[in-house]
Amino acid sequence: MTPDAVSNEYVYQLDRQNVFHSWSSQGNLSPLVIAGGRGCKMWDYSGKEYLDFSSQLVNTNIGHQHPKVIAAIQAQAGELATVAPAHANLARGEAAKRILAHAPQGFEKVFFTNAGADANENAIRMARAYTGRDKILSAYRSYHGNTGAAIVATGDPRRVPNEFARGHAHFFNPYLYRSDFWASNEEEECERALMHLKRVIECEGPKSIAAILLESIPGTAGMLIPPKGYLEGVRRLADQHGILLILDEVMAGFGRTGRWFAFEHFNVKPDLIVFAKGVNSGYVPAGGVVVSEPICRHFDDHMFFGGLTYSGHPLAMAAIVATLDTMEAEGIVDNADRVGNGVLADGLKQIAEKHAIVGETRGVGVFHALELVSDRDSRAPLPAPAMAKIKGALIEKGLLPFVVENRIHVVPPCIVSEAEVEQGLSILDDVLSTAG
Ligand code: PLP
Repeated sequence: MTPDAVSNEYVYQLDRQNVFHSWSSQGNLSPLVIAGGRGCKMWDYSGKEYLDFSSQLVNTNIGHQHPKVIAAIQAQAGELATVAPAHANLARGEAAKRILAHAPQGFEKVFFTNAGADANENAIRMARAYTGRDKILSAYRSYHGNTGAAIVATGDPRRVPNEFARGHAHFFNPYLYRSDFWASNEEEECERALMHLKRVIECEGPKSIAAILLESIPGTAGMLIPPKGYLEGVRRLADQHGILLILDEVMAGFGRTGRWFAFEHFNVKPDLIVFAKGVNSGYVPAGGVVVSEPICRHFDDHMFFGGLTYSGHPLAMAAIVATLDTMEAEGIVDNADRVGNGVLADGLKQIAEKHAIVGETRGVGVFHALELVSDRDSRAPLPAPAMAKIKGALIEKGLLPFVVENRIHVVPPCIVSEAEVEQGLSILDDVLSTAG
């Protein structure tokens, strides 16, 4: 039964009584009610407004309800709402062509999936089929999605209860602030992380390794920008042993770092690119794998044992075409670069200098993290109850944050204006002044 006027309370109770939530024990949840959104703003049924500094799950790169993307989805729904993947379809072909236009030279085709996890799943499968090898190496500080191989490739603790896929090994990726290598500068961190990876490859058996899977810039793990030379070094190690390099651009791709792909910040070219989220801002779920020429040639006369009913779903494809065209026409990637590396990065540095609770700020584009500590010298992470209080206070003051462990990820849509950044930073500053 629907009440005459929908209220926050009605939607909240509807959810609590009927919806089973992700990554949670179900008993003690209080989901925030969201009724609508536009641009960087969202609101509830009482009219309370929020500035979205989370981009939801870091996916609404183009902001909420961009009229051109909504119109494209509506037009496609009117024309053909679904079609089997085996057919040739205009929206699918146009979407693939546009994605390839942003990929480096040497990438030829796009395999579409429903989201990021199954994109990694299929990239892993392609790498295994292409190399005839089994193992996938990936980083402990990573998230690659919640399906069979993707969650086991994931490094973060969500892997452990889900470890049912075989053929995976992990290594430590660089993270100078909490170095696993006793490093005191970027050069040491880079050199030692590469030496460690070299040893892991040797010990796992180079000829058994199909691919190294890495987020170009690990996102959920806290914007761990690789030190200069690291990804290039990983590429060299992979090449020495005939191992493929898969770069997961699900969170960092399509404008988030102020580039179309985050690996453009480095001098590296992968063999497979995995994408989702920002490709159409999640208006209709979509993900995929961009496949390089040698791998395409292999599958010209070898069967690819993989597929999905909704691979290249026309509503998602129409959303991709409109999103990428609009991002280009409206200079949205440049905006993420200019605003993100300007007023946002500068403002976060000032906040870090002012508040002892901030151990480090790092990031690029609209992809930043504030790492909160209870003690700057020991770098002890701020405990969960204090983080929960901060999150509550930010929401109370109208800022939607993305809080992970002891970090606030500052990830507004790529369209964010300088005025909106200043508004968000002022709320952050305010809340951190009373936290600790
Ligand atoms: N890869 C990365 C880097 C991600 O950040 C995520 C999700 O956050 C995924 C893969 C999984 O994507 P999805 O949740 O769309 O399956």
